Amino acid sequence: MTINYNEVGGEMYQLMTELFPICRSITGNGVRETLNIIKKHIPVTVHEVPSGTQVFDWTVPKEWNITEAYVKNSKGKKIIDFMENNLHVLNYSVPVKKKISLGELKEHLFTLPEYPDWIPYRTSYYKEIWGFCISHNQFIDLKEDEYEVFIDSSLENGCLTYGEYYIKGEKKEEVLISAHVCHPSLCNDNLSGIVLAVFLAKHLSQKSLKYSYRFLFIPGTIGSITWLCLNESNISKIKHGLVAACLGDSGKFTYKKSRQGNAEIDRAVINVLRNSGNDYKIIDFIPFGYDERQYCSPGFNLAVGCLMKTPHGYYQEYHTSADNLVLVRPEYLADSFSIALSVFDILENNKKYINLNPKCEPQLGKRGLYQMMGGQKDKKIKELALLWVLNLSDGNNTLLYISDQSGIEFALIKDVANILLKHDLLKECPE
Ligand code: ZN
Repeated sequence: MTINYNEVGGEMYQLMTELFPICRSITGNGVRETLNIIKKHIPVTVHEVPSGTQVFDWTVPKEWNITEAYVKNSKGKKIIDFMENNLHVLNYSVPVKKKISLGELKEHLFTLPEYPDWIPYRTSYYKEIWGFCISHNQFIDLKEDEYEVFIDSSLENGCLTYGEYYIKGEKKEEVLISAHVCHPSLCNDNLSGIVLAVFLAKHLSQKSLKYSYRFLFIPGTIGSITWLCLNESNISKIKHGLVAACLGDSGKFTYKKSRQGNAEIDRAVINVLRNSGNDYKIIDFIPFGYDERQYCSPGFNLAVGCLMKTPHGYYQEYHTSADNLVLVRPEYLADSFSIALSVFDILENNKKYINLNPKCEPQLGKRGLYQMMGGQKDKKIKELALLWVLNLSDGNNTLLYISDQSGIEFALIKDVANILLKHDLLKECPE
């Protein structure tokens, strides 16, 4: 199957555009609406977990919803309006309706003096307060007046909503792909991870797979804690995993290793990035970041890393109104799609073989193997790949190891192994 990456990037971007206006949070209708749109692409199962449910050391919070919010001046003019940008409301604000002075209003305003044109994204999930977020320039211009503040929100017992999509492969062992779904109108952090997961799921569902794949669309932190708690008996099936976040900006790829540090997923991602021809960065596991914090907590210690382009906190637009549809571009989403598929290709095909002619090199010429190697240009590299695979296939080494040792990209190592298999020079080892 040939993939038109431009087309996929465009489709991912289109889905991002559709999801962008929705006011998401860790609970509430924004997540449901998001999952309903995702359902147009993949048949995701929606789970609802009641508020108050105990999940390890945490409690599923009350559900937050919002319909309208504004600040009006004494002339009745809306000077801050949630309808214009949902970042204007402190996410999880409790309802309020009153008239206040400028002084009191300022106690509830959040701005970003370093970037005076941008609206910051702020939340208050566990402290019941209300507030508005505005650009610092607007803040400076506010006049003494009597202001009417109105937030029509609700914070009541309800549910935490998350989505799950499972693709059955040959094996029960699973690859987990996790994306958070709790950010409102923010593209790189968060929509890029969501659209990547959706299109990976869509693509993989059309293939025959060795592993089963599980996609999670969950609110950050509380969502992964909830999912791990409710699915604890099945956790041992997860063999590999990736948290997908910040995957649509122009920066270089960054991979944060799992807590295990040298898991197959870690080696697979590093191998793909090393062979990508582009600059990249590998970072060791640290106990802050996205949901890998929970998957890699010591009681689970799953082989789950985090694939990003520019990490959270390292780009100036992070958690501001400038993390928008301009910052993220279709071609970068397409790059992320391509990298992730190459990683899965390794996981799916990372086998071990035994050389059936191990005493000295087999004579390749008489088997027509030199002629099979195509044009002059890639003949040399294919020949090298053949020699590497033959030499290291002693039953102990995986194709990923051979690719790492030889510096030859995995796809070619895999192709060559298949050729040698056809010529009875290799035998696959049982797993
Ligand atoms: Zn974030």
